[in-house]
Amino acid sequence: MDTIYLDFDNTIVESNKKIIEILNNKYNLSKTEDDMNDYEFHSIYPISEKEKLDMFESDEFYTNLEFKPMVLEVLNKYKDIYNIVIVSKGTKNNLIKKEQWLKDNLPYQLKFIGLSGQSFNKSKIDMSNGIQIDDNFNCLKTNAGLKILYKSFNQFPWQRPNSNEEYIAVNTWEEIDSILDFYRNYNCKTLEKIR
Ligand SMILES: [Mg+2]
Repeated sequence: MDTIYLDFDNTIVESNKKIIEILNNKYNLSKTEDDMNDYEFHSIYPISEKEKLDMFESDEFYTNLEFKPMVLEVLNKYKDIYNIVIVSKGTKNNLIKKEQWLKDNLPYQLKFIGLSGQSFNKSKIDMSNGIQIDDNFNCLKTNAGLKILYKSFNQFPWQRPNSNEEYIAVNTWEEIDSILDFYRNYNCKTLEKIR
C-alpha cells in the first residue's frame, strides 16, 4: 500500500483564513486571503513573529477551524486504500494542539508526524514509498515518489518553483481525488500496474 504524506496547514485546513479572521477581529481590519502575499502575515498587519506563533498555538485558532473544501470526502474515500500520514511542522504546543484537533475532528485516526525546531524539515522523512501533498513548494523538496503542489487558486511566492523538482500543481481536492484514483492502480514511482 502506498503512503500519502499530507501537510496540515492550508492543505487540509484553512489556516490562513483563520489567522486573518483573528487579525481582523483584533485590529478591526477587513482583510482576506487575497490581501496576503507573505508568510509572516505582514501584508495583513505588522505583527511580530512571536505574535504569529502565539496565534498558531491559541485555542481561538483551533475553535471552528475549517477543512479545505472536499478534504473529508477524499480522505474518506482513500483511508483504507492508502496509508495516510499527516506531516506538519510547528512549535511543540502547536503540534500538540494540531494532533488533538485531528483526533477531535476526524471520524478515524490518522498517523501524525510533528516536526518541531528549526533543524527539522520534511526532507528528513523517507517518503520514497509515497505521494506527498503540500501547499508550499519548499516542503516538496523530499524523496517522495510523486509530489502534488496544492495551490488552492493562490499565487503565493512560496508556491513558485525554485528548483527543478518534478511535481503536479493542482487547485482543488477534486483534482487530488483524480490523481489518487489513478495511482491506486499504478506504482507512483515506476508506473508499474499494481492492481
Ligand atoms: Mg502548509
